[in-house]
Amino acid sequence: MSKIRTRYAPSPTGRMHVGNLRTAMYAYLIAKHEGGDFLLRIEDTDQERFVEGAVEIIYRTLEETRLIHDEGPDKDGGVGPYVQSERQASGIYLDYAKKLIEKGEAYYCFCNQERLDTLKKVVDGQEIMTYDKHCLHLSKEEVEEKLASGIAYVIRQNNPTEGKTTFHDEIYGDISVDNSELDDMVLIKSDGYPTYNFANVVDDHLMGITHVVRGNEYLSSSPKYNRLYEAFGWEVPVYVHCPLITNEEHKKLSKRSGHASYEDLIEQGFISEAVVNYVALLGWSPEGNQEIFTLDELIKEFDYHNLSKSPAVFDMTKLKWMNSEYMKSMDLDQFYELAESHIKAVIKKDMNLKKIASMVKTRIEVFPDIADLIDFFESLPEYDLSMYTNKKMKTGSETSLALLEEILPILEAQEDYSNDALYGVLSKYVAEKEYKTGFVMWPIRTAVSGKQMTPAGATEIMEVLGKEESLSRIRKGIKLLSNQSL
Ligand code: GLU
Repeated sequence: MSKIRTRYAPSPTGRMHVGNLRTAMYAYLIAKHEGGDFLLRIEDTDQERFVEGAVEIIYRTLEETRLIHDEGPDKDGGVGPYVQSERQASGIYLDYAKKLIEKGEAYYCFCNQERLDTLKKVVDGQEIMTYDKHCLHLSKEEVEEKLASGIAYVIRQNNPTEGKTTFHDEIYGDISVDNSELDDMVLIKSDGYPTYNFANVVDDHLMGITHVVRGNEYLSSSPKYNRLYEAFGWEVPVYVHCPLITNEEHKKLSKRSGHASYEDLIEQGFISEAVVNYVALLGWSPEGNQEIFTLDELIKEFDYHNLSKSPAVFDMTKLKWMNSEYMKSMDLDQFYELAESHIKAVIKKDMNLKKIASMVKTRIEVFPDIADLIDFFESLPEYDLSMYTNKKMKTGSETSLALLEEILPILEAQEDYSNDALYGVLSKYVAEKEYKTGFVMWPIRTAVSGKQMTPAGATEIMEVLGKEESLSRIRKGIKLLSNQSL
C-alpha cells in the first residue's frame, strides 16, 4: 500500500473548535500510526468568512497540541501551494473545472439571482434551491457568446437524475443515495473562487491524500464528491467522517458553555496535554481500560476502525478529572511554570510561592481553582469562631483558647520556622502533654488560616507565613476567642 497521507484543512475563521481539533488529531494519528504524512492546508476560499489572525491561531494551536504537520504552507513537500487562495491564483481549479466541462460532467451556468430565487422551495421549514439544469441546455455557441460578453457565470457539476450513487465511509459504512437527490452544485463561484465542494476533491487528489478525515456534516455531500473523483478517473480516498460532538445536554457545543474551542478550554485553566488526551477519546474507544494517553501512546494505540458513529458527549467533569491527573503527574517545576500567574494574581506579599504551588498541585482540577485555596495566605479572612469546634479532634472554643495561650510562648521562642522544625517542636509538646495531634493542630491551623479547609497542615502554613505573621494570627485567634468567652 502507498504511504498514508492525511490532511487537516481548516478554514481560517477563528479559534479552533473542539470538533476541528479532534479532526486534526484523528488525521494526525491515522497518518502517524502508519508512519505516514500529515499535511496542513489552509482553506481560505470563502473570503467572507475569513478572519484576520485566524491562520496564526491554527499554527499556534497545532504547535501547542504537538500535532506537528510534515507539509504545509511553511513546510513545502512538493505538492503546494498549501493555501487555497494561492492555488486559485495559479488557475488550477478553473483548469480542472474546464476538464469536467469537456467531459460533459460540468457546465457553465449564467442564471442570475432573480431566476435562482424562483427555484427556491421551503422543505421542512428550510429554504432549499435545486437547480433545474436550465443552462445545461445552452448550445456551445450560446455559451461562448455569453462568456465573450462578460456575463457573470458559475460552473456547476452535472449530476445524473437517475440511478444511485454509493460510497463507503469507514465509520458509517456503505451509503447509497438516489442521484435525483444530488443537485448540480456549484464548483466555481462567480468570483472565480472554487467552492469547498470542488476544491476539496481537486486538492486532496493533487496532494496525494489517502484518508480524508472530517466532520460528518460533509457526509451528505460525499456522494457528489465521489462523482467528481469518478468523473476525473481518480482513486477515491478512504473516508473517515467523525461523529458530532455535543454538550452534556446533547446540544451543539457553544461558546457560552465554554467548551467550544481549544483556546476557550486553555483559558479556563486546562492543560494542553489533557485537552488533547480528552478530545482523542471523543468518539474513539481504546481496546483496554486505559484512559490517560500521551500523544506517543495515542499514535501507537489509535485505530480508526474503533471509532463510534454515535454522537460523542463532551463531559466537562471527566475532562476536569483528567486535567487533575495530568497536574498530579507533572513535576513541581513544570506545574509551577503554569500555575505561577494564577498564584501571583492572589499573593502579592513576599512568600515562597513554589511551596504554595506544591500544596495545591494535587488538590485542584483547573488552575482557577487555586485562588480560593490560597487566598488566606495573602490576608487572614474574617472567620467564624465555630470553626474551632471539631468533634473528632475534641476541640471547642474553650479548649482552643487554652491551647493557643499555652502554645504561644513556645512559638514565640521558636526561631526556626521551617515545617520540620515546627513539627518537631509541636510533636514534642503533644507527647509531653499526652494530647492527640489533632487536638493541638486543629486550633493552630484554624488561627493561622481562618479556613475550614486548607491545602496543607498548620506547620506547613506557618512555614510559608513566617514567624511574625503566624504569631500575629495566633494572637488574633486568642483575642477573638477571649472576647467570645467574656
Ligand atoms: N475547510 C473545511 C472546514 O474547515 C474542511 C473540511 C475538510 O476537512 O475537508 O470545515
